[in-house]
Amino acid sequence: MNKNITVTVNPEDEGNQALIKNLAVAELARLGVSARESDITELVFRKKSIDARRGRVKIHLMFEAWIGESPSAKGPEAAFAPAWKKADPSRRVVVVGSGPAGLFAALRLLESGVTPIVVERGVPASDRKRDIADISREGKINPDSNYCFGEGGAGTFSDGKLYTRSNKRGDIGRILAIFNHHGANDAILTDAHPHIGSDRLPAIIGKMRETIVSWGGEVRFGVRCASIAVKEGPTGPRAAGIVTASGETISADAVILATGHSARDVYEMIAELDAGRAADAPRALEAKTFAMGVRVEHPRELIDKIQYHGRERSDTLPAAEYRLVAQSEGRGVYSFCMCPGGLIVPSATEDSGIVINGMSPSSRNTRWSNAAIVVETRPEDVPAEFRKLRDGQDDALAGLRFRTWVEEEAKKQGDGQKAPAQRLEDFLAGKDSTTLPECSYSPGIIASRLDRWLPEQIRDRLAEAFVDFDKNMKGFVCKEAVLVAPETRTSSPVRILRDPKTLESPAIAGLYPAGEGAGYAGGIVSSAMDGERCADATVAAFASRRE
Ligand SMILES: Cc1cc2nc3c(=O)[nH]c(=O)nc-3n(C[C@H](O)[C@H](O)[C@H](O)COP(=O)(O)OP(=O)(O)OC[C@H]3O[C@@H](n4cnc5c(N)ncnc54)[C@H](O)[C@@H]3O)c2cc1C
Repeated sequence: MNKNITVTVNPEDEGNQALIKNLAVAELARLGVSARESDITELVFRKKSIDARRGRVKIHLMFEAWIGESPSAKGPEAAFAPAWKKADPSRRVVVVGSGPAGLFAALRLLESGVTPIVVERGVPASDRKRDIADISREGKINPDSNYCFGEGGAGTFSDGKLYTRSNKRGDIGRILAIFNHHGANDAILTDAHPHIGSDRLPAIIGKMRETIVSWGGEVRFGVRCASIAVKEGPTGPRAAGIVTASGETISADAVILATGHSARDVYEMIAELDAGRAADAPRALEAKTFAMGVRVEHPRELIDKIQYHGRERSDTLPAAEYRLVAQSEGRGVYSFCMCPGGLIVPSATEDSGIVINGMSPSSRNTRWSNAAIVVETRPEDVPAEFRKLRDGQDDALAGLRFRTWVEEEAKKQGDGQKAPAQRLEDFLAGKDSTTLPECSYSPGIIASRLDRWLPEQIRDRLAEAFVDFDKNMKGFVCKEAVLVAPETRTSSPVRILRDPKTLESPAIAGLYPAGEGAGYAGGIVSSAMDGERCADATVAAFASRRE
């Protein structure tokens, strides 16, 4: 028989097998299973989590305890058996974008032998590194190759945190196992907060591409989708492929659009299709709630001390994380993408703006810890000057215009990609920062009155929330804490609509909007799961057309 059990130990006892076995016997007894240590044939490790609440630090270890018999299947390799098939050239799907949604969609299509043709506006991950280095060196953004665009999408030079709050939409374990199959370490299969690290992701992404190509899929770099090739069919418009920026038409039976939420031109392209349609025709886009704010950075040691209750962090514990949430005037204000031992990075996709984000190397050992602190922004919160009425209603791109305005305003306040910054204490006091602390953001920071130019509704809510956060994490508001702006790309301000059952655009049959850019995911794992769902939907459509 086997039983799932959890044992709790002090951090220094995590590797103490004798103690763990002893605790396992007691835990089994508590669950009504009488077993001696010698009856336990194996403790198969399943998950680990750190609990730093209530003034103490404990490690929870979850095991599958096998009693009197050997485990039937154990270990990460049991979770995923590759089932890719040679691609059939007569069944083709264009996948636009090679982010997590696009890559996992392509791999999933290959499980049914459908040929994915992945088109990516950027370059392979190895070449992307050069363009990313140029952002810090020269303060210039290449609009097709940057932190968000290129092989692997925004996920490649991301933090590689693989946790998601969504567990409804697919099989998280499968996604982790596919990353593991392509070289991610085994720990991602068992950690409660799995993390790959920005230094390891590019090689893993490269291996996923090799899998796609080896089974007969195509991956084409430097190819930007400029429009959807639409054919009028008996039931209305239908996607028959794409037209690239160089004018080439790539024909296919369906198109999975997985372009992420930074591709402003893609939203504008879809909005144009909408604009040319009769007022009562189904729409392709709608405005949605998104979030904007700043990134806050502290010395890592300070956050470790707060979270580990004043103790120095020992080698057995990772750099400390936090998650904060507050309510201010009816809107949520929350921490997002917390990067312990990480860096703030320049992630604009256009030279006209500044956008920041965060990432960590696998070791999480820089001197800083940072997190986005963002304010929920609903369509009705978007100021009137960004709205264009269409048939008496705001059009879908108002939030996108507001986001662009904030990014461009930040650029005016900064210099090149040097970002505007203010000490947290000065932000709250409405004062100039006459000096700034050392910051991990490599293009550099410039003192700026964020409290003056950030939109009022964001500034005021941030200020209220920071006071609240300091009550939960004493010392959060301090001299060393610095705010860097703006954090604008935590979620998409636009949704590319789709039918809840077929996942096709209601405006264009055969077009499958996928991932974060379409508004159905937020983060690497949920985008990957959504890519898989869209691939399954295209395969189901192939099958029903044949019937
Ligand atoms: C610095 C940073 C750190 C992050 N850290 C984390 C983290 O730790 N954990 C986490 O879960 N999430 C993190 N994220 C967010 C995560 O990366 C995204 O949620 C995820 O990548 C979205 O996946 P996607 O496939 O939907 O889109 P994307 O990853 O954005 O991919 C879209 C792809 O489409 C391509 N594309 C766009 N337009 C076109 C076009 N017209 N033609 C052809 N190709 C096009 C782009 O070049 C890009 O490669 C981070 C993001 C950044 C920027």
